Amino acid sequence: MSTLVMKFGGTSVGDAAAFAQVSQIVSEHVRGGDRVIGVVSAMSGVTDDLTRGIVKAVAGDEEGYLRVCDSLRARHMNVITELITDERSRAELTETIDGLIDEYDSLCASVRVLGEVTPRSMDAALSRGERMSARILSALLQQDGVKSEAVDATELIVTDATFGNAALIAQPTREQITSHLVPLLDAGVTPVVTGFIAATENGVTTTLGRGGSDYTAAIIGDALDADAVWIFTDVDGVMTADPRVVPDARVIPVISYTEVGELAYFGAKVLHPRTIRPVIEREIPVWVKNTFHPKRPGTRIERTPRNTDGTVKAVTMITDLTMINVMGRGMVGVPGIAGRTFSAVARANANVLMISQASSEQSICLAVPTKSAPAVVTSLEETLAYELHRRDIDRIWSQDGLVIITAVGAGVRDTPGIDARIFGALGGAGINVIAIAQGSSECSVSLVVGSCDATRAVQQIHKEVINHGK
Ligand code: ASP
Ligand code: MG
Repeated sequence: MSTLVMKFGGTSVGDAAAFAQVSQIVSEHVRGGDRVIGVVSAMSGVTDDLTRGIVKAVAGDEEGYLRVCDSLRARHMNVITELITDERSRAELTETIDGLIDEYDSLCASVRVLGEVTPRSMDAALSRGERMSARILSALLQQDGVKSEAVDATELIVTDATFGNAALIAQPTREQITSHLVPLLDAGVTPVVTGFIAATENGVTTTLGRGGSDYTAAIIGDALDADAVWIFTDVDGVMTADPRVVPDARVIPVISYTEVGELAYFGAKVLHPRTIRPVIEREIPVWVKNTFHPKRPGTRIERTPRNTDGTVKAVTMITDLTMINVMGRGMVGVPGIAGRTFSAVARANANVLMISQASSEQSICLAVPTKSAPAVVTSLEETLAYELHRRDIDRIWSQDGLVIITAVGAGVRDTPGIDARIFGALGGAGINVIAIAQGSSECSVSLVVGSCDATRAVQQIHKEVINHGK
């Protein structure tokens, strides 16, 4: 008998068929004797829809937000009509969902009157999506013969009042999860908990940030000392590359927490590593699995990198980048220029994806998203105006149309010659590398190439260091 936290993302509860599939996965495990805690996201796209409705309300567009209400109602009602056969439970569930959408409607109405929305009311609005999906899944489980109860995470997870991205308060959370969920589990009830949402100590609804349901699952897994946390999604696990770019990309069987972190940072659409930290620290295994093929093994995420076969596990790319160069002979040995360069970038609110400094100290290069490049250049010119005037810095210039390609794997650190093989593969294909940086965790190496070479570069690296000999 294991205690399993199973988190189902938006696409896993995207329509009636998906809900039915989820119910089947959960009930199979419950019948097999496992204690299961379900954690659900809102149906796919619902959090975006709820946001859109509020935005329309702020703009005074009553018709607009009412349309959002109607479509949300219709979408959830369709699922209920299709799945819930017992008339009484269908009526009950319909009333609950109606009530939740009515409340959302009133929230939009007041936002429209005020002409503005506070982060606090935004969270109240967004919390409706998970409240609805949790209730539907719980009702479906009961219909499928599993005793179940929907639980709002506002009763379990305590946070500060940073609406939109609230910070966990660990101790009371741990206590509430234990005191609420353990008695349910002991009574043979399967709780279905809303992902993403929480509450302040005073009971005001907050959210954990977009994509926060993974975090909910990890917080619960930690508090209950679960045997495993399973993150169900619509792909087979973490892949060696984006299958649209590399057709023979494969699922990675085991990957470490640090490697997942690098992957997420460098553009792969996997779970955010911060969100699973609570369970990783306790060495509770986390699995990424496919809801629609639950028998496939998926990817196991572990705390410490095990050097499995090969050396590089995955290759990713981030597109639409600009490289900004600060160059000048007068920078040599002058302390503080790098520091001021970075403060200037921070003031422009840009996300720096890669930095490299030539050891001659005559230049610093930064890769930033192209859309923030003009602001960064302006901010740098202002901050370094004196050095530019004195000609200590010759110029600040930028180059658009670039892509960062990152090879991730614990083996990058301790396999001699891996860099050489990567460069060899690119050189052989006639691809020019514009800049290089080694990740600070030392489990990745990043290269900047032109957009036109990006796909080929990913394919070449995948072929040379991931699929080599396969
Ligand atoms: N529904 C929320 C979102 O779309 C949380 C989640 O799906 O994890 O961001
Ligand atoms: Mg999601």
